[in-house]
Amino acid sequence: AAETNKPHVAVLSSPGMGHIIPLLELAKCLVIDHGIHVSFLNITTEASTAQIQLLHSPTLPLGLDVVDIPAVDISALVSDDTPIVARLSINVEESLKPLKSILIALGKPQALFIDLFCTQAFDVCKELSIPTFTFSTPSTSFLAFCLYLPTLDREVECEFIDLPEPVQVPGCSPVRTEDLLDQVRNRKIDEYKWFLFHISRLPMSDGILLNSWEDFEPTSHEAIRKHPFYKQIPTPPVFPVGPLIKHDKPELDNECLAWLDKQPLNSVLFVALGSGGTLSAAQLTELAWGLELSQQRFLLVARKPTDASASATFFNVGEDINVNDPKAYLPDGFLKRTKEVGLVVPTWAQQVSVLQHPSTGAFLSHCGWNSTLESMTHGVPMIAWPLYAEQRMNATMLVEEVGVAVKPVGIPGKGVVDREEIERVVRLVLEGEEGNVMRRKAREQKMSAVKALEFGGSSHELLSSVIKEWKIEKEISV
Ligand code: UDP
Repeated sequence: AAETNKPHVAVLSSPGMGHIIPLLELAKCLVIDHGIHVSFLNITTEASTAQIQLLHSPTLPLGLDVVDIPAVDISALVSDDTPIVARLSINVEESLKPLKSILIALGKPQALFIDLFCTQAFDVCKELSIPTFTFSTPSTSFLAFCLYLPTLDREVECEFIDLPEPVQVPGCSPVRTEDLLDQVRNRKIDEYKWFLFHISRLPMSDGILLNSWEDFEPTSHEAIRKHPFYKQIPTPPVFPVGPLIKHDKPELDNECLAWLDKQPLNSVLFVALGSGGTLSAAQLTELAWGLELSQQRFLLVARKPTDASASATFFNVGEDINVNDPKAYLPDGFLKRTKEVGLVVPTWAQQVSVLQHPSTGAFLSHCGWNSTLESMTHGVPMIAWPLYAEQRMNATMLVEEVGVAVKPVGIPGKGVVDREEIERVVRLVLEGEEGNVMRRKAREQKMSAVKALEFGGSSHELLSSVIKEWKIEKEISV
């Protein structure tokens, strides 16, 4: 059929690789598996090299057009220490001022899919009668927490972190106060206000898609569907359509993959902290020592340490690839002493290719949701090292409910996890019987993910049902 006969939808992502990656995967899935023409609206920022490569990759399927929304200058509205959600919300708010004319110029797409932090789009779409779906890119338990937050906000006077008991999210596992996400730890600041603003608008969605699958988080899915609390909000229909993860374009001359080819099966610990994760200098030193003491193989994605913020690199990842010299900040002689067992690469690795390599035996991760899904999809057990956003909630779930991860003592917490503790968990996951059990469970999740995504599987069917219900279907050509 001609491109014009295809149904046409738009997908809009807020800035940051952690959002762009899953929204782009949703877009690809709509194009490839469901024959839809997608305009991917990209809010331009001081984009990283990795982001530009991703959105302008020659491997994007035909029928997926990237439409750049011009960059805006928000320098007068933010400062260097404006936290993530406030910064990206301000960016989105300013960037979306021309949204109405963009959607009209695109010929009014049949639907718009947005992430959690683009909710300003609801008003414009309502005006244009375009159904709008939120693709909630974190976990389902996180969505349940978000749906409960406006109630919690009304009912609780104090800071949530000062509550004497864990937060009882209806029908779900209680959330310990120390696991609460950064955005709700101080109710007086703009970060919280922006977060609550977006979350409170979630019920305006015509449906909420989730990057998870039913069998991975059965309790939370069941709760959102059946618990009276969510019914009375009312909660829009919820569709777990994941795990949608990116697939790296295989690079023939990739240093990491060539190195992994030479290592034994399941022997390497992959260490990467997402697109934004950064450690303090003291913590990076302990981590390096812990790796060295463990005498296990490792592949470390190194970032220049900073004491400023655990998400310091979120907005400019990849930028400093040429000036990032790990020798300058790893312990003296570390690279030399570990050269037989370790590989250190600056800033960014092809994470999915690494996780799918048979030599990769475990993943030390900040537990960002994409990283979590990528690890599960490839059956790799984890060392949970949550840093920011909702990662502490993810880590607890992976350790306590799914049983695929170990968390070093001292995380989450203040101060530094020492080298002996790091040595212990690295050995445990790569050498110990506990590691084998976690690997087995991770492989079960891998199988379960495959089943959900295949034709007839829960995730595939649910995405099809969104498309059918909203008649985002091919026009019958005569
Ligand atoms: N990523 C990557 N190479 C790296 C670090 C990260 O390819 O060296 C990718 C990773 O595969 C994932 C995304 O960046 O798809 C990070 O998303 P996540 O939700 O895990 O964390 P965030 O960056 O949002 O904190």
